[in-house]
Amino acid sequence: MTEKIILQVTNLIKEYKDVKAVNNISFNIKSGQIVGLLGPNGAGKTTTISMILGITEPSGGDISIFGKSIKEGRSEINNDMNFAAVYSHLPNNLTVKQNLQVFGLLYGVKNLKEKIPQLLKDFTLEKFADTKAGLLSSGEISRLNLAKAIINEPKLLLLDEPTASLDPHSADIVRELIKEYVKKKGIAILWTSHNMKEIELACDEVLFLSHGNILLSGDPKVLPAKYGKKDLEELFITVAREPLTLS
Ligand code: ATP
Repeated sequence: MTEKIILQVTNLIKEYKDVKAVNNISFNIKSGQIVGLLGPNGAGKTTTISMILGITEPSGGDISIFGKSIKEGRSEINNDMNFAAVYSHLPNNLTVKQNLQVFGLLYGVKNLKEKIPQLLKDFTLEKFADTKAGLLSSGEISRLNLAKAIINEPKLLLLDEPTASLDPHSADIVRELIKEYVKKKGIAILWTSHNMKEIELACDEVLFLSHGNILLSGDPKVLPAKYGKKDLEELFITVAREPLTLS
């Protein structure tokens, strides 16, 4: 499969009154690539994702998705993107199945009749098909959010702490499903997590954000050794504590 640049972030800036939440960052994600966006609380991860999604307007720089700048409009971009985040709420009064139907219709998914049962199976939601979303546990909601996130077979998927409320077994299943999906469909994923083991297992590349800057980037399997750390967690702690002294 030829790798195409799916997401191109160039000199992206977001300033609030006296906070530079994102400070001139640039990176690319290619098809088939999972990139982890790491950083301590307040580093600028969610702000970056919000700008890519179009929820937050950048103060400077550009974002290009599928080769099109968001400045030219989003209508051609949005149908091929999706996201799952801990803060995204699904309609509570709709059942699991109805939620998938609504989002499937919104995205114009054609084969919904076959797709919904498959998603329910993949995300172990079959027994909750007719349960209202408001009654689900946080882990079950996360699985529904992920099922919703791939219903339109997006080419770019943004995942903001997608496994945050899953138990280790469910998190492992979901992680494997996402990885398999990437391999099969060659999509691009930007994935934030505070779980370093997860990032090591899932991501091809990581970007460490600190105070809105990309402090370092690279393959999560080789980056720790490069900085004399035993694993990504140790590297993360060093970066979070002494962001300006890591060399
Ligand atoms: P966490 O890991 O805690 O979710 P994060 O890396 O996602 O953190 P952001 O939510 O992107 O961090 O926040 C980056 C910075 O921007 C923080 O200092 C935050 O307080 C600030 N910030 C975010 N949104 C706003 C806003 N609407 N107005 C003012 N400051 C904001």
